[in-house]
Amino acid sequence: MIPDYHIHTGFCGHAEGDPREVVERAIALGMPEVGFSEHLPLPPGFPPAQRYADLAMARDDLDRYVSLVHDLAREYRGDIRVLCGAEADYIEAALDHTAGLLAQYPFDYVIGSVHFLGDGLAYDHGDERQRLVAYGVDRVYLESLGLAARAAASGLFQVIGHLDLAKKFGHRPTDAEAVAAAAAAALRAAAAAGVAIELNTAGWRKPVGEAYPAPDLLAAAAALGVRLTFGSDAHRPDEVGAGFDRAARLARECGYERAASPLGGEWPLPAPAGAAGAADPGEDA
Ligand code: ZN
Ligand code: FE
Ligand code: FE
Ligand code: ZN
Repeated sequence: MIPDYHIHTGFCGHAEGDPREVVERAIALGMPEVGFSEHLPLPPGFPPAQRYADLAMARDDLDRYVSLVHDLAREYRGDIRVLCGAEADYIEAALDHTAGLLAQYPFDYVIGSVHFLGDGLAYDHGDERQRLVAYGVDRVYLESLGLAARAAASGLFQVIGHLDLAKKFGHRPTDAEAVAAAAAAALRAAAAAGVAIELNTAGWRKPVGEAYPAPDLLAAAAALGVRLTFGSDAHRPDEVGAGFDRAARLARECGYERAASPLGGEWPLPAPAGAAGAADPGEDA
């Protein structure tokens, strides 16, 4: 199975499970490699972090996270390659904070995600849905995609996370054309910077019921030669690899033949299913 590079643990405060269970689940699924991507600590005094205490790792836990993942990597070295990554927020008012942490810790890779807009709206947070609507759905799409484009160009990240996260709760833009243009610009920025995007299967578990990014964006990314990692965005060990059979079929349909590693390597996608009518054991069927 294609490796899962987007996995959270109890360290961030809103996920659960022992990192060891994650590794054992990945081995049981037959993954040759697995990557932890815990939420990097937010900048001190960041307004959304004052509204919600459990958005990301505490700064004091970062050492423990990194050493625990490295210990697991050593312990399971004969069975699987364990990578120590992070999911970092792209916050333009705090790029020094993010760059400083990334310079200080030897992460194998970093997923750059946009969870916060310029005014601090945590637009994918379940408790901010009313604020999101008040802010304006189109504005949330356009700003988040614009930030994703700049995140790709920032040089801080190897992967851009869940590109069209703005759709999480099922809100659709009114000006679909402007949003499509912003998404296309973000993909061009990723292509120009040589940054991967991810096929994030968590969207299938959210109200929108669609993986990130949408199939038309995946097809555009494939046409631009943007590399594609796979991520479950697991917040529990049993979500590791969730939806990956379906994701592999979707990636193929959209023009991909290979999945990417954030380290630069590639994984061939499984061959398309055989004759029509063949049994399909996909877990999302
Ligand atoms: Zn999370
Ligand atoms: Fe995220
Ligand atoms: Fe995540
Ligand atoms: Zn995420």
